[in-house]
Amino acid sequence: MQRGTTHIIGAGLAGLAAAVQLSERGRPVVIHELARHAGGRCRSYFETALGLTIDNGNHLILSGNTAAVGFIDKIGSRAKLAWPHEAEFAFCDLASGERWRLRPNAGSLPWWIFAADRRVPGTRATDYLVLARLLAGTRGKTVGRLLDKRSVLHHKLFEPVLLAALNTELDAASADLAGAVIRETLARGGNACRPLFAPEGLGPVLIDPALAFIERRGGKVQFDHALRGFEFEDGRAAVLNFAEGAVRLGADDTVILAVPAWVARTLVPDLATPTQYRAILNAHFKVPRPAGCPRIQGVINGTTEWLFAFDDRLSITVSAADRFNETEREPLARQLWAEVTKLAGASGEMPPWQIVKERRATFAATPAENARRPHAATHWRNLHLAGDWTATGLPATIEGSVRSGETAAGLALRVAA
Ligand SMILES: Cc1cc2nc3c(=O)[nH]c(=O)nc-3n(C[C@H](O)[C@H](O)[C@H](O)COP(=O)(O)OP(=O)(O)OC[C@H]3O[C@@H](n4cnc5c(N)ncnc54)[C@H](O)[C@@H]3O)c2cc1C
Repeated sequence: MQRGTTHIIGAGLAGLAAAVQLSERGRPVVIHELARHAGGRCRSYFETALGLTIDNGNHLILSGNTAAVGFIDKIGSRAKLAWPHEAEFAFCDLASGERWRLRPNAGSLPWWIFAADRRVPGTRATDYLVLARLLAGTRGKTVGRLLDKRSVLHHKLFEPVLLAALNTELDAASADLAGAVIRETLARGGNACRPLFAPEGLGPVLIDPALAFIERRGGKVQFDHALRGFEFEDGRAAVLNFAEGAVRLGADDTVILAVPAWVARTLVPDLATPTQYRAILNAHFKVPRPAGCPRIQGVINGTTEWLFAFDDRLSITVSAADRFNETEREPLARQLWAEVTKLAGASGEMPPWQIVKERRATFAATPAENARRPHAATHWRNLHLAGDWTATGLPATIEGSVRSGETAAGLALRVAA
């Protein structure tokens, strides 16, 4: 297929997923990216304070993220991920020192909830019936309205897991989006919940091989090439305006706009998008992974919510972290380091560290913001939208981004057909 070129604006995961899908089908693609690198919020970069390459945020991918795993297989980077044989999540309660492992059984019949050594300590099998409420029609409700936040299960399972998935305080978070996450992972059994860890970071798994895949098929990537605006004519995007000049689109050319929501709304007239965001805070400590420290650990009763143990650093995540936006960095790093020593069995003075606060990490996954997400198709017949903020039915995640890119690519192919 050669008819027309698809111009993809933005080389984040959504743009890359679209480009991979199109170049695989023989459609010429040109990616225009504002930055000097690809990956967007999912990029890996060299962090000078640490002297290490790190990810812009610790990212959890689960084996049940079918689009993400399909994308990884297509671009040939499966071997760059550690694939555990079974779903197993280490947890630690920092207040009591209690440690446990959550181990959903592989199949979709959830017998693990009847096994005290597999479920959350202090819970009964019947407690898990509340999951059915999330899976039933929850239209427009919040998680806070559906689940009892005083329950042990809420405190020790839903809070860490759903907060990480939705990046929004659960009182305000959309139960529809929470239900979608549970439906695609826990409800499908342990086989869909295996945590996939990227020991070398996300760049070598998701970004570099995607770029290589696209370039091998003749796709072009132009960095430092920000779209400034569109000109629309006769119901279609006719011109792309860049600082370096204008690109007039041919009759068969299509455009996929895969920029963040706050950029898209400045480029496309009358586009409704989410307008509220939540921060994610990551702290990184340059210390080798202590022997026996789990790769990924959930944390209860701490500021830390998840600990990721890389070979060369211990990195923690705090979701919906807006309360720390103005917090002084060094005292916060000391507080977090104290937690990390307990969680990981590390010791000694605080090593070289870095705190990264991403203020607009994701859109706020509330029912109202979820309702503002646009579909991939627009009023303009050759312009399609992609990005974690479009109407994927999922929260802002890698899985949602990949799906959004593939949906937009599907529409572009239909225009070309
Ligand atoms: C700290 C953090 C932790 C996260 N943790 C997880 C996790 O554990 N699991 C998970 O699944 N997801 C997680 N996410 C979410 C995930 O990273 C995002 O959903 C995903 O990366 C979004 O991809 P995207 O392509 O939609 O957007 P982006 O990554 O924002 O890509 C948009 C691209 O457009 C470019 N651009 C902007 N303006 C222009 C312009 N005018 N012209 C050209 N290009 C432009 C940008 O530079 C960028 O490269 C996390 C996000 C953050 C920030």
